[in-house]
Amino acid sequence: MPAAGARKRSAELFTRASAITPGGVNSPVRAFGAVGGTPVFMSSGRGAYLTDVDGNRYVDLVCSWGPLILGHAHPAVVSAVQQATSRGTSFGTVTEAESDLCREIAARAPVERVRLVNSGTEATMTAIRLARGVTGRRFVVKFAGCYHGHVDALLVAAGSGVATFSLPDSAGVTGAAAADTIVLPYNDAAAVRQAFAESGHEIACVITEACPANMGVVPPAAGFNELLSALCGEYRALLIMDEVLTGFRVTRAGWYGREGVTSDLMTFGKVMGGGLPAAAFGGRAEIMDLLAPSGPVYQAGTLSGNPLATAAGLATLRECTDEVYGRVDHAAAAVAKLTADALAAAGVPFRLQEAGNLFSFFLGVTGPVRDFGAARAQSGAAYAAFFHAMLDSGVYLPPSPFEAWFLSAAHDEDAIGQIADALPAAAAASAAALG
Ligand SMILES: *Cc1c(COP(=O)(O)O)cnc(C)c1O
Repeated sequence: MPAAGARKRSAELFTRASAITPGGVNSPVRAFGAVGGTPVFMSSGRGAYLTDVDGNRYVDLVCSWGPLILGHAHPAVVSAVQQATSRGTSFGTVTEAESDLCREIAARAPVERVRLVNSGTEATMTAIRLARGVTGRRFVVKFAGCYHGHVDALLVAAGSGVATFSLPDSAGVTGAAAADTIVLPYNDAAAVRQAFAESGHEIACVITEACPANMGVVPPAAGFNELLSALCGEYRALLIMDEVLTGFRVTRAGWYGREGVTSDLMTFGKVMGGGLPAAAFGGRAEIMDLLAPSGPVYQAGTLSGNPLATAAGLATLRECTDEVYGRVDHAAAAVAKLTADALAAAGVPFRLQEAGNLFSFFLGVTGPVRDFGAARAQSGAAYAAFFHAMLDSGVYLPPSPFEAWFLSAAHDEDAIGQIADALPAAAAASAAALG
């Protein structure tokens, strides 16, 4: 049980990291700005558990932000990477495993051609370049609260701010880079219809999270993704379904496996890299074949399709049997229910939103959360208190209320039991923070 103060080495390492790396982190989501305190330095992971540099053990509900659907250090993944490493780490040539991984993806999702890249950011960045190349049009439509990586044109209302035309969210994104991005409120069919009525013939693509989970879990309303598909078809714009987070996690075929709405391009990442840097995008042959070297839309990568990453991705996807999805679904449902019960017992108003094995809690909110505006009405203070109480009881949650909680097939009854034990105190802390 790591009590506060039992993370001395983490605190020291964070001081050192902050002196050399901005904010002490190599990705802002690892910072504790939203919950306060100091990030925990982890030294190892096994199954459902992380161990920090002070020797404290945690049940992990982040799972590397999604990739680790099998849990940490799964033997099949570790062994595949070890074997690949012994053959050499990178060749800068074509390798057999790359097409194997592309075929595994195409066997699950409705794509005819797949290209491998290193990150979800690269996948969405290239998908919109391709959409503009194919259509010869400028506008990209995205939704407030949907995150698609740190692509300039997509860093608009990607985590804060309401639906506006073209106000960059991040310093360093010029008005020019954002000017061709139309930001709409999520789940707002009328706003989408209006945008198409006004500028439909200049819209290259609509990009959307197949099921948003970067503003908390905010599932598409019935018919919303179908509407996007229909309008894109009507105006000959492309629909890009971003399944970087949902792909191969919520079902074997990602969110597509639940809803079955087809799109022109799809982006993948996280689970398909098995914890190593790999991502992909794909679509119909006639669109994808416009990529260099077969077509005029340029895209490249020194380490794309890297042998270690393809080995980890292949091993992970091949291990993802129906039984594995059954275990993840079971663990997610159990943790969601236990948490809901604990919050209710402590008198904390909350909204639980679930999308398959993805879920999140909005504390201090009771009505449905259908868009980013509603998501932002939750209480950050209530979550911070909840987060720290869980951390001190050995449960590592996302250090932000705007994130889904991630389970894995390694979250067994012991891990779930440890979460159950931690919940009452955390719910009470949360109730106290709400006042
Ligand atoms: C994580 C994520 C990305 C970005 O992927 P990176 O590998 O972090 O660049 C893009 N889209 C969605 C939906 C994501 O969840």
